[in-house]
Amino acid sequence: MTSIGSVTRQIAALEITNKKPAVNANAPQTTASAPSRAMKAPAPPNVSKLLTKYAAPNPYTSSSSKPINPSSLRNPTTTTGGTITASSSTSSLNKVQPSTSSKPTHGGQPSIDIGKYDGGLEIDNEKRGEPVYGDAAEELALDSSVSKKYPTREWTLHDFDMGRPLGKGKFGRVYMVRTKAEPKYILALKTLYKSEIVESRVEKQIRREIEIQQNLRHPNVLRLYGYFHDEKRIFLMLEFAGKGELYKQLAKQGRFSERRSSRYVDQMADALTYLHGKHVIHRDIKPENLLIGINGELKIGDFGWSVHAPGNRRKTMCGTLDYLPPEMVEGKEHTEKVDHWALGVLTYEFVSGFPPFEDRNSVQNTYKRIARVDLKFDKDLLRYEPTKRLPLTEVSKHPWVVKYRPKDLA
Ligand code: ATP
Ligand code: MG
Repeated sequence: MTSIGSVTRQIAALEITNKKPAVNANAPQTTASAPSRAMKAPAPPNVSKLLTKYAAPNPYTSSSSKPINPSSLRNPTTTTGGTITASSSTSSLNKVQPSTSSKPTHGGQPSIDIGKYDGGLEIDNEKRGEPVYGDAAEELALDSSVSKKYPTREWTLHDFDMGRPLGKGKFGRVYMVRTKAEPKYILALKTLYKSEIVESRVEKQIRREIEIQQNLRHPNVLRLYGYFHDEKRIFLMLEFAGKGELYKQLAKQGRFSERRSSRYVDQMADALTYLHGKHVIHRDIKPENLLIGINGELKIGDFGWSVHAPGNRRKTMCGTLDYLPPEMVEGKEHTEKVDHWALGVLTYEFVSGFPPFEDRNSVQNTYKRIARVDLKFDKDLLRYEPTKRLPLTEVSKHPWVVKYRPKDLA
């Protein structure tokens, strides 16, 4: 039986200190539109340097655009069914260990402070949710270690040191965590209560979305490294987005500079090109579903269930209407061009601070304004006719995007 330490060391050798791209037979097929402009970290300060180093491997995070062994955190030696045992007994599985300290552990290098754990998982688990049975239980028995395409190693809550709370999602809390096994990757662990998923009747959708997200590998798409479950909960091992929610930054700053907006639009176009190449339509692009990585790069998160779990902001204004394209407002069929439209709305909101068709007093007026494309603004992406919207390849070549692109990413 392989030890966790030796497995992760192997991965580390492959993925963290990788100098030469490792060839991996299981690497996902990337399309011709594979990411080309992963944002390069401009000499990050210490913390971000450390966080970048101990971020779980992302095949594209270096300035190189070549994918390097993207099967992050997978146990390269374990075949399906091979179990790597966690050090503790199952009887204590519900008790998670708080992070101890930020003492040096990495061969004299300082480890990253993941913050103080507040015991929230146990508190929640006492009073929240209940076991589910039958079809729903089967649907939600999600474990990436047996995933057909990308099996990961078997994880349990015991494999992580718990850190600070990052936020509360609709179905459970999100924590900053570190793998106990070297090289102690930093991740975000998101919990979802199965019974609450069932109550919202989104079990099929959640399952599908988790499976989709696990197969995506792009620097501007939040990685899902693996997932596991216990009787009441599902746990998602997500890429840690060090700078949090884009929506909060937008709210704090009012609007973004042209440079910053342009960089985000460039990254969005790249990510959407990748997604559409894989026949994934996001359908719910909006600031609330975007996170910011430690080096300031944009990360698309929330694949789908956010439709059923809208952030507060849109609820208090006019639902999630602002980003809906005319074809959806009018109840017609839609294609991936809905994401082009949303990118247009996003661009507008970045530079102005509010969405283009917003009418705070009337949902009906917002509908009408969308359907009429009632707007004085560069409408290349906001065409009523979906096929007339600017192709994403043209967005990438747009003078306003090219103007602010760092030279080394050109
Ligand atoms: P909501 O309905 O409020 O959008 P949700 O179920 O979609 O909830 P998330 O938005 O994914 O849940 O997570 C809740 C919060 O946790 C986020 O708003 C964010 O602040 C934080 N968070 C989630 N994922 C990450 C991550 N990968 N890195 C950093 N912070 C995260
Ligand atoms: Mg969300």
